[in-house]
Amino acid sequence: MTAPARTRTSADLIRAEEPVLAHNYHPLPVVVARAEGTWVEDVEGRRYLDMLAGYSALNFGHRHPALIEAAHQQLDRLTLTSRAFHHDRLAEFAQRLAALTGLDMVLPMNTGAEAVESGIKVARKWAYEVKGVPADRATIVVAAENFHGRTTTIVSFSTDETARAGFGPFTPGFRIVPYNDLAALEAAVDETTAAVLIEPIQGEAGVVIPDDGYLAGVRELTRRRGCLFIADEIQSGLGRTGRTLAVEHEGVVPDMLLLGKALGGGIVPVSAVVARRDVLAVLGPGSHGSTFGGNPLAAAVGTAVVSLLETGEFQARAATLGGVLRDGLTGLVGRGVVAFRARGLWAGVDVDPAVGTGREIGERLLAEGVLVKDTHGSTIRLAPPLTITEDELGTALESLRVL
Ligand SMILES: *Cc1c(COP(=O)(O)O)cnc(C)c1O
Repeated sequence: MTAPARTRTSADLIRAEEPVLAHNYHPLPVVVARAEGTWVEDVEGRRYLDMLAGYSALNFGHRHPALIEAAHQQLDRLTLTSRAFHHDRLAEFAQRLAALTGLDMVLPMNTGAEAVESGIKVARKWAYEVKGVPADRATIVVAAENFHGRTTTIVSFSTDETARAGFGPFTPGFRIVPYNDLAALEAAVDETTAAVLIEPIQGEAGVVIPDDGYLAGVRELTRRRGCLFIADEIQSGLGRTGRTLAVEHEGVVPDMLLLGKALGGGIVPVSAVVARRDVLAVLGPGSHGSTFGGNPLAAAVGTAVVSLLETGEFQARAATLGGVLRDGLTGLVGRGVVAFRARGLWAGVDVDPAVGTGREIGERLLAEGVLVKDTHGSTIRLAPPLTITEDELGTALESLRVL
């Protein structure tokens, strides 16, 4: 008989994964057993400051009391109906999420990739039914170095060879232009263009922030050329940058917004397409769906997430502490840090390659009790829970000095 998991060491558990778990990840050698707020604890009881926050899925920290309470209450009442029937949590979730984002209608899904896929489908249908693009000719313009998820269609327009290799044939209908280049975008858009799909800040690419005016330029261009602006805010949205949405930094409202990650409060997968009414109206019964999308538990947790964001408290924390993060990183430039890009509580830090690979840096910080993840090369991403205190942020910045 095998011993119960709780008696096993981290090393045992890591070894036990190897033969039975697909090797599509290469996690840092830490086995987390519990967490609260900004801190996680491994099976041996060592504590770590979480500076990744589940790639922004944990914007409100681990097990935020209001979110856990909402989940518990819903678990005791109703968890799943499917969309074959109405349930009593969905109207409020959709209404308040639409109000929070300044858009009209919500299509609830589960994962980020599903929101992206759904957005692509809606944009194509809009192109045929509203714009009048000839059948099967619609194109969507995307940016190089994008990250929008892992499905076959989404990796079809990735520029990351590791994400694509071996997964063809790919879905046609995408045009790739350099990010942060309005002239290239202008040249790529034509009468077949359904939409421009971009991240307002490219997270996986290393927290790449476009020049001031780029997002406003995309908004102006898409409006003038008669195509949709789809903003993938799955990682940048919901407080991370110091605003509810990253597009707000330029006062822009897209036609369609893709949300995920933090929308599920770190408890359940919750994603959504949020859009103008005349755009989402192209979907009729049977044209799209999801068994779990908008389920009562997801709607309850999602509504509790919206409640937290309605207070503005987390956006304000991200903005204020973002200043502390920026100051701290500025002090490290030339001392192990080559350059960084930051907005709110989100930073891409280019560590001097002489210090080590991203992986080695992650391992060194792990030994210091800080969890981070490299993006590529020697670039690491810092994205702590928005609940982090100034002291904790100071601790994390201090740990970067050991590099
Ligand atoms: C994480 C992410 C996705 C994909 O979300 P999943 O839930 O992993 O499918 C899509 N777009 C962006 C910008 C992301 O950061």
